Amino acid sequence: MADDIQALSAAAAAAAIADGGLARAELFEHYRARAAADELNAFTWVAEDEPTVINGPLGGVPLAVKDLFCTEGIPSQAGSKILERYCPPYTATAVANLAAAGAPLLGKTNQDEFAMGSSNENSAYGPVLNPWDRSRVPGGSSGGSAAAVAAGLAPWALGTDTGGSIRQPASLCGIVGLKPTYGAVSRYGMIAFASSLDSAGPLTRDVTDAALFYRNLVGRDSADATSVAFPGPIDLPTSERLDGITLAVPTALVDGEGIEAGVRESFEASLETARELGATIVGCEIPSAPYALSAYYVIAPAEASSNLARFDGVRYGLRTEASTLDAMYTQTRHDGFGAEVKRRILIGTYALSSGYYDAYYGRAQRVRTVVSRELAEIFTKADFIATPTSPTVAFRLGERTADPLAMYLSDLFTIPMSLAGTPAISIPSGLSEGLPVGLQICGPAFSENRILDAAHALERAIGFDGAAARSGGV
Ligand code: GLN
Repeated sequence: MADDIQALSAAAAAAAIADGGLARAELFEHYRARAAADELNAFTWVAEDEPTVINGPLGGVPLAVKDLFCTEGIPSQAGSKILERYCPPYTATAVANLAAAGAPLLGKTNQDEFAMGSSNENSAYGPVLNPWDRSRVPGGSSGGSAAAVAAGLAPWALGTDTGGSIRQPASLCGIVGLKPTYGAVSRYGMIAFASSLDSAGPLTRDVTDAALFYRNLVGRDSADATSVAFPGPIDLPTSERLDGITLAVPTALVDGEGIEAGVRESFEASLETARELGATIVGCEIPSAPYALSAYYVIAPAEASSNLARFDGVRYGLRTEASTLDAMYTQTRHDGFGAEVKRRILIGTYALSSGYYDAYYGRAQRVRTVVSRELAEIFTKADFIATPTSPTVAFRLGERTADPLAMYLSDLFTIPMSLAGTPAISIPSGLSEGLPVGLQICGPAFSENRILDAAHALERAIGFDGAAARSGGV
């Protein structure tokens, strides 16, 4: 029975519960036991008992939640020592929406500290291992969420994507990750990294699970002024063909340096599959793309330096006592923040300081506008933009920790859509040397239904099998 449960997608598990073939308590206990035996360091907290489950469309299928979502009375540490053992007094809207739809909290998942990173090595609670190869990273910053789903420690997981943090770990772990249109999902109760970019979304085994999850996640929330009502319902995808669909490939970007041969091959094969399904492939240019990465690494740290000012030893978490108030602030931050977070606070504070504001932050914002315009222009001629999700497969633990710029290059293909606030999905496109490769499909704002449909058709035709990793997490 355990193997049978393990083989079910989340949607299939919900259906089995609905028709009486599977008991909800049995499903919860199956995943609770697996999460508790986690050898990948994917979880930072696991539920002891099944919480009260509301009857709803998510059928009682348990949910893993990235640790930066506030969960009432349950540790919410955002991968940081400064929030060690911090238990918030309220629950994030995203988590509450999913719970109200019938997805009980299974556990909290490890992540890069404050979501800053691409490998999960920036967590104060240790790195997460990739279930395909434990000597490799799962990607980041939602590394725990991605590894948990890929290893079958959780049926599905909630993550966040600021510059790629859902899509890139989904890609490196061989699962599906959807970054929504900015604003479609409430940020209330998400511990903030870069507020104009932060987006919460699903990490799932397949595209149908992503749609089922997402339709219960979206919604306008009066507690988040930047949230908006999704125009119309999110449908479960059914497409098997791509007839009449145009996919634009940013040729110069995809042919650039630093892209592994195996990733390129898998991407080319996906394009061939898309053609066989009836799609037309055209070339396109995103001339600002080379600047997008630099602009992101000014804007995101600038917003982070402001957001993280609240961690002062007075209001939350860690406090290191010292002789004066200023010394207490300094010592608390010295002890509580990791190296990457300190780096970002320094960069962001510098970029916002008077005299440099226009030169750095102002220019980065102008690049952001240009990126948005260039993408919008492409979407007047093509339905989607397709790229690999990540230039490389999962890299080795420690391989990039000494070189922040090499780490930042992980985000080459994901950042333009983050700056534009437009949705994108990563689905597995195959294996390269035994490790998963991801395909990114991007559309204009609020095109999630069409993205999910196209991804569904491609997923069926590609036929990726993630079973090898699902036996490896415990
Ligand atoms: N890797 C990127 C960064 O380090 C993106 C992180 C994210 O999306 N949260 O900022």
